Amino acid sequence: MSRPTPQRIGLNWRHDPVHWGGGHLLPCRLCGRGAFCRDQDGRPCHKTCLEDLLTAERDIAEQRERAA
Ligand SMILES: [Zn+2]
Repeated sequence: MSRPTPQRIGLNWRHDPVHWGGGHLLPCRLCGRGAFCRDQDGRPCHKTCLEDLLTAERDIAEQRERAA
C-alpha cells in the first residue's frame, strides 16, 4: 500500500444558509449521530461525513476510470 493518499474533498458551507438546520439536532443520515448541519437537500448530515462520502465516491470513480 504505497499509493499516495488522494486529497480529501473539502466543502465550504459557511456562507450558505441552506446548510444550517436552525439549531435543531437531528440524526445524521450517514452516521446517525446528532447533527446541526443539513446537506444540499436539507437532510441532516455532518459536513465531515458528507466530505468522507464524496471523497470515497470520487476515489471509486477514479478507480473505475483507471480500470476501464
Ligand atoms: Zn455524521
